[in-house]
Amino acid sequence: MREKLVVGNWKMNGGLATNAELLARLASEWTPGDARKLVVCVPAPYLAQAQAALSASAVMWGVQDVSEHAAGAYTGEIAAGMAVEFGCRYAIVGHSERRRLHGETDGVVGAKALAALGRGLTPIACVGETLDERERGATDAVVTRQLDALIEALGARMRGCVVAYEPVWAIGTGRTASPEQAQAVHAVLRSRLAGAGAGDVGLLYGGSVKGSNAAALFAMSDIDGALVGGASLDADEFLTIARA
Ligand code: PEP
Repeated sequence: MREKLVVGNWKMNGGLATNAELLARLASEWTPGDARKLVVCVPAPYLAQAQAALSASAVMWGVQDVSEHAAGAYTGEIAAGMAVEFGCRYAIVGHSERRRLHGETDGVVGAKALAALGRGLTPIACVGETLDERERGATDAVVTRQLDALIEALGARMRGCVVAYEPVWAIGTGRTASPEQAQAVHAVLRSRLAGAGAGDVGLLYGGSVKGSNAAALFAMSDIDGALVGGASLDADEFLTIARA
């Protein structure tokens, strides 16, 4: 069954006091409707805080990245097993900021997704084209290359993943892909996934999703939810998206 999810990616934002307010509001105001799940991916130092604040609620939490390694001399990295110890259920892998700023290749992203799955986390694997790639007409080729690398790394375990289409030009820019633009790419991804026996994987859209545009995006046949950056830091906005 296609997983319907709204996932917040706090990125490197937050602080104990502001997190406490935001988490308390999500915990008390989110009631799971229509099988849609709500998830927040918090910075790793706040995992214990998220666990304490959300354990008794319907809101789930996760990490923004995991190492492809299980343990060892990898300074600054977080192992999937560590995230599991704090009750995480999800791990974002291959976010465009990690690909761009940390040089993560398709191969590394596949290895991270495998490491997450190996410890029972659901990877939320991100794919997406830059503005230059879109303007050159290379969108389908880029996202297909990124997805194919994942499928090759994961094989039948691809069915245990969630995929997020996040056009890089729409992330944090206020410029959202139109529902039709997003749906066109989601259809390409869905057909590729179906060819790999994983057609029922949840497909999220990410890139400047807000309360005001979520419903139109969610009305598209291949969009199962959203990966939300900036708007996930505002309880009203994030809950509006989740209920759209
Ligand atoms: C993201 O970082 O995954 C994202 C989609 O950010 P924003 O919603 O701020 O564009």
